[in-house]
Amino acid sequence: MKIENYIRDIQDFPKEGILFKDITSLLNDPIARKECLSILVTSLNGQPIDKVVGAESRGFFFGMLLAQELNAGFVPVRKPKKLPYSTISASYDLEYGTDTLEIHTDAIQKGDRVLIHDDVLATGGTAKALGELVEKLGGEIIQFNFLMELSFLNGRNKIEGHPIFAAITY
Ligand code: 5GP
Repeated sequence: MKIENYIRDIQDFPKEGILFKDITSLLNDPIARKECLSILVTSLNGQPIDKVVGAESRGFFFGMLLAQELNAGFVPVRKPKKLPYSTISASYDLEYGTDTLEIHTDAIQKGDRVLIHDDVLATGGTAKALGELVEKLGGEIIQFNFLMELSFLNGRNKIEGHPIFAAITY
């Protein structure tokens, strides 16, 4: 089975000129989902993971499945003012302006082995901010993993120095 076949292209979403990779068709198919999870887990080569960090909101879907499969904790990273306990934050550049992500201060302990997951690696701003949050709390980044990498946007340059895996590369 090719999981690529379960990713749907949506033209001009969320704005004109953007070809959006829609994962809802993948989420909606249990066999494709299982195959995708297996590819992501296999990429770790059995390395132990203490925490899976997933980015709001599409990073939560496979992030939680990965945490369950790896017998690890799951840590949500969210947009500002969504997490109820004390947080630290990291900001990153958008095409126009900046955005911020937050994590609970007690979500990761020093020395925790962390897998960072999001659905898509595009320009890399989100991934870089996720990495900063994990390292500020003393976590060790074992891998960044994604369902898809849009390689023409060179996002991996922003997180170089860490292992990066994508189930599909465009
Ligand atoms: P970046 O910060 O790397 O530019 O963008 C990555 C973030 O934007 C991810 O959290 C991802 O959910 C979202 N994103 C950007 N482009 C796409 C896309 O084509 N499809 C999906 N599903 N998400 C995207």
